[in-house]
Amino acid sequence: MIGKKVLKELAQAVGREKVFAESEYLLSYSYDATGLEYLPDAVVFAENEEDVAAVIAVCRSHGLPLVPRGAGVGYTGGALAVSGGVVLVFTRMNRILSLDRENFLAVVEPGVVTSDLQEAAEKAGLFYPPDPASLKTSTIGGNVAENAGGPRCFKYGVTGNYVLGLEAFLMNGEKVRLGAETIKNVAGYDLKSLLVGSEGTLAVVTRVTVRLLPLPPCRLLFRVDFPALEDGARFVQRVIQAHVQPAVLEFMDRSSLQAVYSYQGLALDDRLRAAVLVEVDGSPAEVAEREALLKKQLDAARPLHWQRAETFAEQEALWATRRNISPAIAKLKPKKINEDIVVPAGRIPEMVGFIDGLAAEYGLCIVLFGHFGDGNIHTNLMVDPDDAGEMSRAEVVLDKIFRRVVEFGGTISGEHGIGLSKKPFMHYQFSPVELELFRRIKKVFDPDNLLNPGKMF
Ligand SMILES: Cc1cc2nc3c(=O)[nH]c(=O)nc-3n(C[C@H](O)[C@H](O)[C@H](O)COP(=O)(O)OP(=O)(O)OC[C@H]3O[C@@H](n4cnc5c(N)ncnc54)[C@H](O)[C@@H]3O)c2cc1C
Repeated sequence: MIGKKVLKELAQAVGREKVFAESEYLLSYSYDATGLEYLPDAVVFAENEEDVAAVIAVCRSHGLPLVPRGAGVGYTGGALAVSGGVVLVFTRMNRILSLDRENFLAVVEPGVVTSDLQEAAEKAGLFYPPDPASLKTSTIGGNVAENAGGPRCFKYGVTGNYVLGLEAFLMNGEKVRLGAETIKNVAGYDLKSLLVGSEGTLAVVTRVTVRLLPLPPCRLLFRVDFPALEDGARFVQRVIQAHVQPAVLEFMDRSSLQAVYSYQGLALDDRLRAAVLVEVDGSPAEVAEREALLKKQLDAARPLHWQRAETFAEQEALWATRRNISPAIAKLKPKKINEDIVVPAGRIPEMVGFIDGLAAEYGLCIVLFGHFGDGNIHTNLMVDPDDAGEMSRAEVVLDKIFRRVVEFGGTISGEHGIGLSKKPFMHYQFSPVELELFRRIKKVFDPDNLLNPGKMF
C-alpha cells in the first residue's frame, strides 16, 4: 500500500493527470488475458521518456515494485503487479516516430499497437511480419518483452528477428541504447537480444527500432479439411518437406472449429477432425509456383475438402475463424490452461497423437490449434477449477506433456513467455545451474529486485 506522500511525489514527478490510485483504475489494471488478478497501488500513464525516468526514480527511492504494461493482453501474467507497487502503462506512448523507406526501418514508441505499425508499413509498400493473433490490441513493447510470434513467423521469424535497436531505462535510472540501425551487428555482448523476451524484468523499453521488408505483392490462402487429427498434422509435414515454403501453416482441431462455428451459429461437417490454413506469398510467379507445389500435396493427402480463398473477404473470413478460436473456446469450460509448447516440426504428428491419447485416457477436453509449421502447438486443457478430480488429472497430463516436449528437444513456451503461469514449469527445461545464471543476470540489471518482481523464476 503506498501512502499519500508517494502518490504526491509521483504526481509532482509526471503530472497529476497521469497518476491514478482510484479503485476503478487499480481494478482495470489488475488483470491480463490469464484471468489472474493482482491489484497495484498506483497506475501511471507514461507519455514520454522523462516520465519513465521520473517514475523509476520515485519507485527506487521508496523501494516500490515497478511493473511495465502494454495492452495487458499477455497470456502469462507478465504485466500483473504481484507485489503491488506501480503499474507503468505505455499505451499513451504510441507514436510511430519514423518510417525510413530507404533503409527499411521504423522507429516506434513501445505503446504502438502492432497492427498500427503493420498498416503504416503497408501504406509505404513495406512489411512488418510479426503477427500475434492479438495484433489489433497488443503493443510493440509487449511484443518485444514477450518476443511474440504468430502465424507468419513460420516463414518470417518472431519479433526478435525484427528488433534492431532498443532504448531502455535500467532500474538505477541509467538510459541505454542497444543494438544499431543495421542488420549485421556483432560488436560486444548482444544486450539488445537479452532484453527481447526478458518480460519486463531487466529494463523498461522506451523506444524500438525495427527492420521492415518489402511488402510481398501477392498472397493466396487455402483451407484444407481432414477426417483425422493426425492427417492434418502429417499434411503440415508434407507441405514443409515439399519445399512449398508457405508464409503460414496453421492447424485447427475439431474442438477449436466447433467452438467458433457454434459461436457463429454455423454447422460443421460431421466428418471433419482437423483443418490446416496454408498461405503462400511472394511475386505472382513465386505464388503460382508455390500453389502448384501445394496442389500436388493436396492430391496426395486426399483431404475431405479444400478451399482457395478467391477474394479478400474470403481470406478475412478464414482468418477470422482462426483468430476467434481463443475467445470461442473460453466458453467451453470455466478455465483454460493454455500452453504454447513447441516441438521440432518432424515430431508434430507424434506429439499430437500423444496429447490426443492423454485426453482420451484421462477424460479431459484438450483443444489443439496453432502455428504447426514451426512446431508451436497451442495445447488448451479446458477444466473446471471446482472439479478437484479434473484439476488433478490435468496436473498429471501437463507433467507428461512437458516431459515429452523436452524429450523431443522442444520448449515449454514458443511465444507467450513464462510470467507467472509457467514459472512452476521452468525446471522441466532448465537445470539448477541455468536457473541460477538467470537469477544472476537479473541481479546485474536490477539488484534490488524492483522491476517486475516475482516473474519467470
Ligand atoms: C486472443 C489472444 C491471442 C494471442 N495470440 C498470440 C500470438 O499469436 N502470438 C503471441 O506471441 N502471443 C499471443 N498472445 C499473447 C499476447 O498478446 C502477447 O504476449 C503480446 O505480446 C502482449 O502484448 P501487450 O502489449 O498486451 O503486453 P502486456 O500483456 O501488457 O505485457 C506483457 C509483458 O511485457 C512487458 N512490457 C510491456 N511493455 C513493456 C515495456 N515498454 N518495457 C518493458 N517491458 C514491457 C510487461 O511487463 C509484461 O511482462 C495472444 C493473446 C490473446 C489474448
